[in-house]
Amino acid sequence: MLFVTTRLGGTKGGFLMLPAPYYLVLFQQETGWEVILSPDPALDWQWSVNQGYDRVWVWDRPFPLWLAERMQEKLRLLTVKGKAGFSRHRGGRVLNKTARRHGEVGEGTWQRLTVEMFPCSLPAAAAAQAGESSCRLQALLPKLLPGRSLTLSELRRVLERAGVRSTDYQLTGVLQQLILEGKVQRLAAVGLDKLGRFYCRRCGEQEQIYVERLSSAPQPCRVCPSCRELGTLTDGITLYRWRVELPRIKPSGVPPPLALPALTIWQEQAVRESLEFWRQPEPRTLLVWAVCGAGKTEVVFPLIRDALAAGKRDLLAVPRREIVRELGERIKRCFPGLTFTILYGGHKEEFPAALLTVTTTHQLLRFTSCFDLVIVDEADAFPLYGNPMLNAALERVILPTGKKIYMTATPDPSWQRRARRGEIGVVKIPLRYHGRPLPVPTLIRTALPAKKAEFIPPVVKEFIFRLRTQERKGLIFLPTVQGVEAFARSLQQELPNQADQIDYIHARDPLREEKVKRFSTGQLHLLVTTTLLERGLNFDRLDLLVLYADQERIFSVETLIQIAGRVGRSAADPGGVVYFVAESITGTMKTAHQEIVRMNKEGNSFIKKKATSPDRE
Ligand SMILES: [Zn+2]
Repeated sequence: MLFVTTRLGGTKGGFLMLPAPYYLVLFQQETGWEVILSPDPALDWQWSVNQGYDRVWVWDRPFPLWLAERMQEKLRLLTVKGKAGFSRHRGGRVLNKTARRHGEVGEGTWQRLTVEMFPCSLPAAAAAQAGESSCRLQALLPKLLPGRSLTLSELRRVLERAGVRSTDYQLTGVLQQLILEGKVQRLAAVGLDKLGRFYCRRCGEQEQIYVERLSSAPQPCRVCPSCRELGTLTDGITLYRWRVELPRIKPSGVPPPLALPALTIWQEQAVRESLEFWRQPEPRTLLVWAVCGAGKTEVVFPLIRDALAAGKRDLLAVPRREIVRELGERIKRCFPGLTFTILYGGHKEEFPAALLTVTTTHQLLRFTSCFDLVIVDEADAFPLYGNPMLNAALERVILPTGKKIYMTATPDPSWQRRARRGEIGVVKIPLRYHGRPLPVPTLIRTALPAKKAEFIPPVVKEFIFRLRTQERKGLIFLPTVQGVEAFARSLQQELPNQADQIDYIHARDPLREEKVKRFSTGQLHLLVTTTLLERGLNFDRLDLLVLYADQERIFSVETLIQIAGRVGRSAADPGGVVYFVAESITGTMKTAHQEIVRMNKEGNSFIKKKATSPDRE
């Protein structure tokens, strides 16, 4: 056989693997030409026979996919129906020229594929495609790939989780069939744009595509650093997307069972308003503005139930993985028996027929436009807030007819403005679910250690003493990872009797999930933390203290409000203390304080209005 088949790129078990080369294939028939790319022309031979193409030609030099894509475009322009003058000779010259322009070698000749090259009645590749697992792949791919943008190895893992194991070669064969049928799109993950510049097809990065020598690749390759958190993409890696319409879902019309906790009258009002938003054509965006601890997530569950019954694809996204896990648990409790997909770093549960997807915002980079309803909880949190890549991904996954909901306690001023102007809908929840006011922070000015936590400030000692005597838990927030570790160690040395109940946590801590669990269950009574724990998680009997609260770059107004909002969330313990401690009281600290006082006033006037309203329950 003429052509060498190379297994597709990436490393497996530490072995070096070559990026897959692609062949330019010309199908010729009476009415004209078709140009396709192929990892193995044997796969296309069977297809061309079935389609009745009488001649098939292959350029006998393969190319990296990013270059083959550009060559395919050029040949397609030449072979456009009705355009005179295409010949294989001219096509070959174009391939040579295109390769040279990109610093590659293009020489080769067109080889005609003949039946003699594939002496078996069914070529080996076609026989492999007829195998049992290939049949299952063919059945599963149209269910799992729509709406996704995945590399070959990601797709293989998705299929494995659905119970079908396959080799890269087998999967490539089935995908090539779907590509020939026009159902799947294959792209070099880092490829050329119209102006000939490399860009990342997953995250859209254009400015920072670097040439790097990776241990997994024999030659330097172009790498996207921006979306590396999801696995490194290079010009030698392939992305697959479903290119035809999403499969239609027949609405069940039967809403899934929903077991909500008892809602307050202000939550119920928010449920009515958000359902109205969903049922009306306009506006398309809604801001759910709820004070910390208002129970805003439950408020959108009736809306999700409506959307599920109507056969709509729904996404619930949050910026951080700690919160996704907790959200997943809450959905299991409130929607008993509902099958839904949940995705976050290190954990994936996917179901082909699931209409609801719960995920971190980073995972959205692996989706294409497919959701009718997108709800973003904690919409103003790191890393989504101010991140153009993730915000673009968020916009991309919404269908043109879809709607989106942002939920937060501290909306960005620009959203507040848009809400005031009526450009987006707004639903406010002015009170916590237990109806008690938000704890108002006490601002404390005192001397603090400059570096390395040389001494423990008296305010911290008093804080810990209070925790001890009142059997409460405490969080101490510091602005930096180094500060967190050093301060926790100083505390452990200063308080040897309590050392085993004091620990630290930050985003780079590999034991962070375990520590959160130990703090929740009371094995730890004091955690020194970065803003990692500023939102999303609930701990009972909690007091907290923010050290260096004047570090405005870290402790913004929104962050300070969110941090204060951790305290007093349960009905059994709606109180608790919040201290903002710094060497000088800044405008940011004062604004956060005033904002909390203002929200409490708004909540109070809501209660008074309800109490005097004639339609009260
Ligand atoms: Zn990227």
